[in-house]
Amino acid sequence: MAQKYEVREMQQANQQVKPNPFENALEQLRIAAEYLKLDEGIHQVLAHPKRQLTVALPVKMDDGRTRVFTGYRVQYNDARGPFKGGIRYHPGVTLDEVKALAAWMTWKTSVANIPYGGAKGGIVCDPKRLSAGENERLTRRFASAISPIIGPYQDIPAPDVYTNAQTMAWILDTYNTLEGFMSPAVITGKPIALGGSLGRDKATGRGAVYTTVEAAKANKINLKSATFAVQGFGNAGSNFAEILQSYGPKLMGASDSKGSIMSKAGMDAGKLIAYKEKTGSVVGFPGSQEISEKELLQLNVDILSPAALENAILPDTAKGIKAKIIVECANGPTTPEADKILHANKVFMIPDILANSGGVIVSYLEWVQNLERIYWTEDEVNAMLEKKITSAFRDVHAASLKHDVDMRTGAMIVGVGRVAEAVKTLGVFP
Ligand code: NAD
Repeated sequence: MAQKYEVREMQQANQQVKPNPFENALEQLRIAAEYLKLDEGIHQVLAHPKRQLTVALPVKMDDGRTRVFTGYRVQYNDARGPFKGGIRYHPGVTLDEVKALAAWMTWKTSVANIPYGGAKGGIVCDPKRLSAGENERLTRRFASAISPIIGPYQDIPAPDVYTNAQTMAWILDTYNTLEGFMSPAVITGKPIALGGSLGRDKATGRGAVYTTVEAAKANKINLKSATFAVQGFGNAGSNFAEILQSYGPKLMGASDSKGSIMSKAGMDAGKLIAYKEKTGSVVGFPGSQEISEKELLQLNVDILSPAALENAILPDTAKGIKAKIIVECANGPTTPEADKILHANKVFMIPDILANSGGVIVSYLEWVQNLERIYWTEDEVNAMLEKKITSAFRDVHAASLKHDVDMRTGAMIVGVGRVAEAVKTLGVFP
């Protein structure tokens, strides 16, 4: 019975009437193509993933039964370098979601100006209902299923929602076993003991903070007296909160999948991280009160970071958003319609492909260290991250001022423009 119940829940999660993320991605591409006056043929190349792999994953469950999960790896574009992108475990994973995430990875590595293309993977599963053993067997089966198309110079996966350094270690070990040698550069976000980079665990949040510092300067907001809220207090969101707090702003609200909280006096991000680690949720944090998800997103704060999943900010929510700066730690949290409302209300948007590119930038630094067999200190890694992401922010801001467009369109103009140039220069085979 438990198995049937779980399948029904997954189907319900997939059937939620939400905008199709790949349609959102194509609409964003269309807008950038217009500004760039892209040749229709190049636009068409960029509107199609190069390769999409769907795999069936039979797994022996702890109760002795065999269950078949579905997994995906979408390799979107590799004109600028090997495919690169995370792997997500979630009941709501769909092929269209993975395609959208793979497209965003392509523009993201391009905005960051690192020599990669874009890819993404996912497994339709509820990791909270898997034992550690089931999770490991599922991960290893997935790694073996995608092994023919990944590799250090081909496609380099990384963590995403509900996957972590341990998941990467299992993928690495499976790949190494199949290949017959240790190949740490096939995957990033690895444990330090296996060639992971210092600073990678906090890189997404840290990079988002560096972009926030630039945005505050551009908008003449004094961070010392600023306030902020974070939706989705996971890896990206909680590190963003803890590092941003060290620049002065006060954390007023936070949420996770179990609920949302706020505190008029402000909360210490470090203590909230420790509380969530202990209890499994931010809900119930001493001195806080529970609020709805919409109230959290519409809190009277200077900076808001959606750091959970796609489609968090819909038009109805966007109308009431009071934040002056939105930092998209999550991928695709704002729908195109909501984006228009925010732009009209003069909210300064740091779009996902810029705001959360710290993760892939340090993944790139990890890969370089693996290939070169030279390892850097955490300060060296953080300094390179700051330089890269600040320069990306400035490129995007300059493009948005030049074309008189919002930052998302500016980021797309920079990201799509560089990929289009590479595709055009390579030419069409044969
Ligand atoms: P994570 O699993 O560590 O955290 C996700 C958090 O979101 C969890 O705390 C979960 O409880 C919460 N959440 C889920 N549904 C929610 C809801 N409806 N309302 C509020 N909270 C909800 O994942 P992560 O790695 O932090 O990823 C979060 C987002 O950041 C994703 O969109 C991911 O693609 C993006 N991202 C992550 C990285 C990275 O390096 N971790 C890099 C780039 C982008």
